[in-house]
Amino acid sequence: MNKIPLGVSQCLLGEQVRFDGGHKRNRYLTDVLSEYVEFRPVCPEVAIGLGVPRKPIRLVVMGDETRVRSIESPDLDFTAALVAQAELAVAHMPDICGYVFMQKSPSCGVFGMKRYYPNGFSADSAGRGAYAKRLIELMPLLPVEEAGRLNDAGLRDNFLTRVFAYHDFKTHVASAPTAKKLIDFYSRYKYQVMAHHVPSYFSIGRYLANLSARDIYTSSDEFFRLFMEALAHHATRKGNTNAIMHLRGYLKQHLDTRDKQELSQLIESYKAGRVPLVVPLTLLKHHLLKLDNPYLKAQTFWAPHPEPLGLRNHIIEDSQ
Ligand code: SF4
Repeated sequence: MNKIPLGVSQCLLGEQVRFDGGHKRNRYLTDVLSEYVEFRPVCPEVAIGLGVPRKPIRLVVMGDETRVRSIESPDLDFTAALVAQAELAVAHMPDICGYVFMQKSPSCGVFGMKRYYPNGFSADSAGRGAYAKRLIELMPLLPVEEAGRLNDAGLRDNFLTRVFAYHDFKTHVASAPTAKKLIDFYSRYKYQVMAHHVPSYFSIGRYLANLSARDIYTSSDEFFRLFMEALAHHATRKGNTNAIMHLRGYLKQHLDTRDKQELSQLIESYKAGRVPLVVPLTLLKHHLLKLDNPYLKAQTFWAPHPEPLGLRNHIIEDSQ
């Protein structure tokens, strides 16, 4: 498989581009994920000429706006330059299939960024780094995550599921969509989508049933939006169990009582949070693959990301 292009805050790769001359190397990215992705590193603050080391900056509430300003010299405003840098990044790397941002940065932070009033008091509401904000506006379906949040097994699983699905669609459908390609693509993801969000599972099915009424490029874009929004919902234990139960239905006539009981017990253990998803899934897959059914074999639900990443070996809490 070709490596997947992934945008990343440059300091996360161990490059000394932080305002204090340091870095924030993230070993999961550099030592594990690098097997599967090709990083496209950007340090927006260096790119706009702020240099290393540099004076610290922060998010400042100015009326309805959030600006990025120097702490020491509040008249120095870098917002427009950072926004322009995001626009340049999108133009230079339109092929990226995800982005990992550094948290707590007024340029790169995505979630819960602290903002300040011009008098230095902190504001109650949070903001988003100026570079990250503009990039997300320009690529709203792009899977994005903060490096710190990737320590959470559930968030990591969801982010990488979306990255691999995004890449799959861009590779196999997006450039030359046809009705058949869209339907074939979705048929591989049906149980994956069911595990993430049942209402989307039905609405996407209905949408694809009426494809001939619309221009294929419009249909492809709309399908992709529905699909990525579905995957943005987390696959909870309840959702995964639901998909597993539907898949188990294919085995009704093929398992003896003992095998049925063994499988049911493992599904119950997973549902109760005692074993990780990989446990019932391995047995289910073992039985289902014997049916030699191409539709079932092709389901991405078995492995939405490479198995060596081991993301399904964790007991993932549903609270995220
Ligand atoms: S967080 Fe963003 S702006 Fe800050 S050093 Fe890292 S890449 Fe550069």
